[in-house]
Amino acid sequence: MNANELKNFAKSKGADLIGIAPVERFAGLPANKNPLSIFPECKSVIVVGRRILRGALRGVEEGTNFHSTYSTFGYKWLEDNFLARTTYDLTCHIETQGFEAVPLFGYTEEGMPTGAPVAPGKPAPNVLVDLDFAAYAAGLGELGLGGFFITPEFGIRQRFAMILTDAKLVTDTVVSQNICGSCEACAKVCPFGAIDKTKMKKTGDSEISVSSATIDYSICASCPNGAMQGPGRGSRPDRIAAICGRTCMVKLEEAGKSSNKFENKFRKRSVWLLDGFKNPVAAEDMPDASDLGCSKQYAK
Ligand code: SF4
Ligand code: SF4
Repeated sequence: MNANELKNFAKSKGADLIGIAPVERFAGLPANKNPLSIFPECKSVIVVGRRILRGALRGVEEGTNFHSTYSTFGYKWLEDNFLARTTYDLTCHIETQGFEAVPLFGYTEEGMPTGAPVAPGKPAPNVLVDLDFAAYAAGLGELGLGGFFITPEFGIRQRFAMILTDAKLVTDTVVSQNICGSCEACAKVCPFGAIDKTKMKKTGDSEISVSSATIDYSICASCPNGAMQGPGRGSRPDRIAAICGRTCMVKLEEAGKSSNKFENKFRKRSVWLLDGFKNPVAAEDMPDASDLGCSKQYAK
């Protein structure tokens, strides 16, 4: 099967991003995160992505609409409908050519249902392949300090799914540029100190790995600043629309690090922020304007 033809097909079905990793790159992952635990004959891991519209984040940025903008078009419908359809069309295309294709959502392990191993030596279900590692191994970008996967095209604005196949495909090289740049704005604007940049968390081995700051997702789960929870996705909340995620997006755009460019700046007005009691944070306690990526007159 031809990898370029496969990528063109995926793009004709709505994919904005697609990368392919050889399964050998996953050798350093434990059995409970490893694609070979799900499909032992897997030769290639395909990671397919669709962009999150910048406009889907507008209602959250203004603090006026959370659910009919981002929660649907940027999160649940994008993942469950639009991206799922692209992924499914691609698996059908692969199987039409005589190779098996296993579609996988990019879910994370926290709070997901677990069972007992069905035989000695097998990991307990459900094995969940580490999506950030897979996207990195497929050459699509890197994991940033704040725990957001960052691509050169859309920054943090995309969602991914995976396909495991026994087709041996021409693969992509991993991205070597430093996109994140460790500006630390994500950690500085979090009002609850949930991102601990002094403790890095690594996935992988000495050959290939991704790492980010340690994030206390139990704090994020009750964050009123744009974090969201999707049904069936366990307990780790989605943080792309949260103040940490939107600020990361603003900083990446400011640094010219996403190639999907816009005529106008995203952050135009004062930044809203709620404390743990859902009361507005006082102006004097707001993070610095330079960390929020807005002009000083708006931030304080
Ligand atoms: S805000 Fe800065 S440090 Fe944090 S993930 Fe984004 S680019 Fe990296
Ligand atoms: S989701 Fe909220 S609590 Fe979690 S890191 Fe982002 S701003 Fe902090």
